[in-house]
Amino acid sequence: MKFGGTSVEDARAIDRVAGIVKSRLPERPFVVVSAMAKVTDQLLAMAAAAGRGERDQALEICRALRERHYLTVGELLGTGLHTELHHELGSEFDSLDELLRGISAVGELTPRTSDYVVSFGERLSSMIATAAFLARDIPATLVDPRQVIVTDAQHSRAVPQVDEINDRLQDRIQPLIEQQRVPIMGGFVGATREGVTTTIGRGGSDFSAALVGAGLNAARIEIWTDVDGMKTTDPRICADARRIKVISFEEAAELAYFGAKVLHPATVLPAVEKNIPVLVLNSRNPSNEGTRILARTPRSRSLFKAIAAKSRITVIDIVAARMLMAHGFLAQVFEVFARHRCAVDVVSTSEVSISLTVDSNEAIPQIAADLEKLAFVKYSGRKAIVCLVGENLRDTPGVAAQIFDAIRDINVRMISQGASEINLTFVIDEADVPEAVRRLHARFFSDVDPEVFD
Ligand code: ADP
Ligand code: ASP
Ligand code: MG
Repeated sequence: MKFGGTSVEDARAIDRVAGIVKSRLPERPFVVVSAMAKVTDQLLAMAAAAGRGERDQALEICRALRERHYLTVGELLGTGLHTELHHELGSEFDSLDELLRGISAVGELTPRTSDYVVSFGERLSSMIATAAFLARDIPATLVDPRQVIVTDAQHSRAVPQVDEINDRLQDRIQPLIEQQRVPIMGGFVGATREGVTTTIGRGGSDFSAALVGAGLNAARIEIWTDVDGMKTTDPRICADARRIKVISFEEAAELAYFGAKVLHPATVLPAVEKNIPVLVLNSRNPSNEGTRILARTPRSRSLFKAIAAKSRITVIDIVAARMLMAHGFLAQVFEVFARHRCAVDVVSTSEVSISLTVDSNEAIPQIAADLEKLAFVKYSGRKAIVCLVGENLRDTPGVAAQIFDAIRDINVRMISQGASEINLTFVIDEADVPEAVRRLHARFFSDVDPEVFD
């Protein structure tokens, strides 16, 4: 059971979580929690301030964070337990302050130190949740993710080492579960084999939960969040987005990858390998059925399952007349991206040009400079990928015409279909996303299959 930031955002939310976990005790849950809502952003902000040498600003953000955690504990616990945990939290915050002073003094923030600072978010929330569970008669045991989630050393996007994680789950966690304990672990955080703290990418607590679920052969992986499951599109863009009752692993993975923030894109993979259902549920509305993500889903009479949009994309156009009839050119181009460890999402090519998209990042000017040794290069930011997903796309003709008719006055930069057969993807200006998504949603989700959508 994984509870996201908003599900542990304050005392009331944590109390609700305890109630939900309690109702599942006979099923022997393992609990993963995120940092309290917005805490990861604040930790990154204080680390960055310290890295610029702005010590007082860093300490000020940290002070506000300390207050918020103290307040939560005060509201959650009776006096005795409160005092004990208050001391423990106090010493965590003291060492965080110490760390920020150190970073400010040096005036440099390394990726390794940044991960260490950021890891406090999940450490604090899991300590508080454990105390709250114990006070509510849940036999909770706090687990340090650095003892379980073994990763490589790519800080801020470390890659979990599944075999070692599974060994540790069997050795250290399985016995706890057999003793009827309820392990609670902060998500998002891991450590290298040598014990250096790492993080596995923003939104990564979902992934942590999936790794644990797969490693323990869980009956289900439950992702508890602040909406009634996966929706037909981002509810912040379309208030009338519908709940998807059931969706396939493949469809959910495409949606997550192309921007449906509700699920981290890596979450589905461990589940697929062990064929474990993933449920997306609402901690504020626990009786709602949410979304079930399964290997196989009933055939739906609706064309699409959902629309996702991912902003902050850069389009890179590479034009080379000498690419005409040449071989090896694409390999040279992609080698540049590989060297910069930059993932490419959407690609379209013609005889003499390639357009591709990457997530906007600081390395782009350098990548472009390297590409210029091969060809003429142009790049433009503030683009977005819009992606329509559904297994029925495989065998329905005339879909593209319907899509592009709905957004005919919006400028489309790139189009791609076919790679996965279940998504149709195109690139537009970031500013056009709300309008495009609303129109497509109105077009494809006004009259939907009640078996699949709510
Ligand atoms: P958590 O902190 O629980 O991990 P997130 O903020 O990461 O929660 O994800 C939940 C949010 O994802 C929702 O509040 C919603 O605004 C957003 N979201 C984006 N696309 C979708 C979608 N297709 N279905 C549901 N929620 C979505
Ligand atoms: N707390 C981390 C983040 O905000 C991980 C997560 O919430 O999944 O990115
Ligand atoms: Mg999330």
